[in-house]
Amino acid sequence: MAHAVKYHPSLSLLEQYTEGTLEAEVALIVAAHLDFCPHCQQLRHDIEADIGCQLAQQPAPAAESDEWQQMLQQILAPADLSTAQDPNVAEATIAPNSTHVELGQFKIEIPRSLQRLAAKRKKWLQLGGIATAKLPSSDNNHLSLLLIQSNTEVPLHTHKGLEITLVLAGEMVDEMGKYAAGDLIINTPDHTHTPKNISEEPCLCLSVLTAPLEFKQGLTRLLNPLQRFFY
Ligand SMILES: [Zn+2]
Repeated sequence: MAHAVKYHPSLSLLEQYTEGTLEAEVALIVAAHLDFCPHCQQLRHDIEADIGCQLAQQPAPAAESDEWQQMLQQILAPADLSTAQDPNVAEATIAPNSTHVELGQFKIEIPRSLQRLAAKRKKWLQLGGIATAKLPSSDNNHLSLLLIQSNTEVPLHTHKGLEITLVLAGEMVDEMGKYAAGDLIINTPDHTHTPKNISEEPCLCLSVLTAPLEFKQGLTRLLNPLQRFFY
């Protein structure tokens, strides 16, 4: 790995992840972080060891028959390259290639563990230097890929709910820090920030929103479409 991941989920979030009590989209983005982060993988093993005895004595949780849960299980299952040729998957795919996002001269690789999910993305919507593609999710949350081109800023906004962002490729900064691949950034309604990509390469992120963003600058009539764009 080219660099060490700096921003991690809290211990409490990792515990909830290990216990299986997180909402599906939040669990998914934590799982994607774990793929980047040996440090959190080790922590998760430690948590598992701590709660293992308790869990072993509990009855198995009721089977989830929910369609979304089934799809999530498929997505989180180890990737199998043969699915790239699966005609059913191809049919649901807008772009013919789920392993990369192509933007001008740049070809950005989607991490292997997310390729199956990324293949189910809706079409990219573009606003200035920002593009977003919605991914399948439950009704509670909004899950999307977010591509921020170089020298592009997401307008200042705050959060009505949680905003969890995982950098998949490239770099971005905001008022709190600088983030690179594997970094997990969690913003709550207390945070207001202006994410920017000041690098020369595009930045690809996975984003979970539990409520729409609230934009703070400019005319409301211009910001309302912006809010819809992001949610
Ligand atoms: Zn970590």
